[in-house]
Order: sequence, then C-alpha cells, then structure tokens
Amino acid sequence: MDCLFCKIANKQLPSDIVYETKEVLVFKDINPKAETHYLILPKEHIESVMSAGSEKVIEKLIKTAKEIAEKGKIEGFKLVFNVGQKGGQTVPHLHMHFLSGEQMQTELTPEV
Ligand code: 5GP
Ligand code: ZN
Repeated sequence: MDCLFCKIANKQLPSDIVYETKEVLVFKDINPKAETHYLILPKEHIESVMSAGSEKVIEKLIKTAKEIAEKGKIEGFKLVFNVGQKGGQTVPHLHMHFLSGEQMQTELTPEV
C-alpha cells in the first residue's frame, strides 16, 4: 500500500521511534508544533477516525498516550485528531497527535 505511515510502521522508511508494541507505533513528528510532538498510530492501515470500524483502536491510542505520559512524567498534554482533508488531515492513516510543552495554552490550535 502506498501510504507514508504504513511505510514508517513497516520500517520501509525511517522515523524517530519513541514507543512500540505489536499494534501501535509512536514516533516524533518531523515538523514539531510543540516541545514534544509525537504521532501515535495503529500499525494497521485505517484511514481516519471516521473509518475506524471500532472505537477499540481509538482506546488503544489513548491508552498509549497515558503510558507515555506516565513513563515520561509528562503532567500535561494535548491529544489531537485531525479528521479528513477538511479537518486538516494531511496523511490518510489514522494518527493522534501528542503535544506537550512547558505550559500549553488553553485555546485550541486549529493549525496543528
Ligand atoms: P495531519 O496533518 O495528517 O494530522 O498530521 C500529519 C503529521 O505528520 C504532520 O504533523 C507532519 O509534520 C507529520 N509528518 C508528515 N510526514 C512525515 C514523515 O515523513 N515523518 C514524520 N516523522 N512525520 C511526518
Ligand atoms: Zn497506512
């Protein structure tokens, strides 16, 4: 499949991996919008939140974010899903942004 994140998940393309299980991969965003900016995704190709057949996969991504926060002693963070091209999704492989910094702002950041 000609999908950028499938290729990263299959290790056909390099990435800066921070966490990995059989089903989930976490790597650093190439163009970070916060001090810490990770992408958390299922290795299986699912296009977006809208095409996820079950919420179980979303649950796994959120559980992974909590584990990363606990392990990294990250007290505060934002989790963002861009959904669909009009929602700002540029890579059509389901992923959740994990954003953290010294002090995150309260307003939403639509450009992420
Ligand atoms: P989206 O806009 O689809 O929600 O997020 C896609 C994210 O993937 C963007 O934040 C972008 O910087 C990141 N990205 C795009 N191509 C690559 C890549 O080849 N490697 C990594 N690590 N991140 C990428
Ligand atoms: Zn894919």
